[in-house]
Amino acid sequence: MQYKIAERVAGISDSVTIALSAKGKAMAAAGEDVVNFGAGEPDFNTPEPVRAAAKRAMDDGQTRYTPAAGTPALRKAICEKFKTDNGLDYAPEQVVVSNGAKHSLYHALQTVCSPGDEVIIPAPYWVTYPEQVRAASGVPVIVPTSVEQNFKMTRQQLADAITDKTRVVMLNSPSNPTGAVYTRAELAELADVIVERDLLVITDEIYEKLVFGGAEHHSIAALGPEIFERSIVVNGVSKTYAMTGWRVGYTAGPAAILKPFARLQSHASSNPCSVSQAAALEAITGDQSVVATMRAAFDKRRQLLMERVAAIPGLSMPEPLGAFYAFVNVSEPISRGFAQDSVEFCNRCLEETKVVMIPGSPFGAEGYVRISYATSAENISEGLDRLKRVLALA
Ligand code: PMP
Ligand code: GLU
Repeated sequence: MQYKIAERVAGISDSVTIALSAKGKAMAAAGEDVVNFGAGEPDFNTPEPVRAAAKRAMDDGQTRYTPAAGTPALRKAICEKFKTDNGLDYAPEQVVVSNGAKHSLYHALQTVCSPGDEVIIPAPYWVTYPEQVRAASGVPVIVPTSVEQNFKMTRQQLADAITDKTRVVMLNSPSNPTGAVYTRAELAELADVIVERDLLVITDEIYEKLVFGGAEHHSIAALGPEIFERSIVVNGVSKTYAMTGWRVGYTAGPAAILKPFARLQSHASSNPCSVSQAAALEAITGDQSVVATMRAAFDKRRQLLMERVAAIPGLSMPEPLGAFYAFVNVSEPISRGFAQDSVEFCNRCLEETKVVMIPGSPFGAEGYVRISYATSAENISEGLDRLKRVLALA
């Protein structure tokens, strides 16, 4: 039997980040001595008060459908978070809670993209963006950025990529995979172009609390009333509160966009898990010192990783100022014949040293690999020792 797969789905590739980090977990579960730098998730457990809130919610009977867009209490708490952290004024009707920020992004693109609409995505990008654009029958337009510009799209690059079909610009600061963080001034330049050309911006701020080395997170949506009305802000609890498994993300934006977004969600998935919403409410409104504690731990690991990479001849990386990833340039060992490209580089490292890394090519940047430092200092040291040994042999 020949099955005809819908065009908008047939061209979608696997999520390499999910596939490779799952492979690392499976190898470890099978007793192999793996160092997993693939994981895009904090290695901490969800904080105790959040887990306790979930248990209470179950015992209190919060086990039924909630409004499709999320509980009133959580949407109100999210509005307060936006006001306090980002200086953004949203009413609860402008906020929809979804099953993780990935789901939020998916529904945002489904809501604003019509067939053939162009969506500008600076590269390196998170692997999921182009696939979600294609799933929305849109056309991803990739704008490559270089390490010399700290992997950040300039005003000119954005302006040059715009055509009469451009509808949306995707931004992700702090960035997965590069750890780049846009300054307020850089965002203001992009905002000028977005306003002038009357586009929308989808700004993915999931790593906002993970900034280091004096970097500050700014939401582009907060840079003035004109960009505010053109912004769709996506965030969630996965990375900030070590809650990747709970699946809670959220979106805020103009009511004219969030209303149809909520209608789509009501038919696609109804509400996100009621118990997870109770947990997210505690995470967002409870004691925030856990966030600072986890951030400090990530920062120590980040510094260790930078030192260890600098000590390996032929490898280099820009200082990652956000998220928990380093984007390491491996073009020197590739040019020496260690591997043909970043995919083979990662395969060879996995086979010969049991170190899991994600190749740069699915992020739109050949010659790089992504190392997640959301793992212990011992793992970071051991993984980099192994990498140094295998590269010295080549
Ligand atoms: N955006 C970026 C840049 C990410 O790295 C992730 C991680 N999976 C997400 C969004 C989605 O996170 P989640 O669905 O777990 O909320
Ligand atoms: N965002 C994480 C990563 O990039 C988790 C995996 C995924 O959702 O793709 O590795």
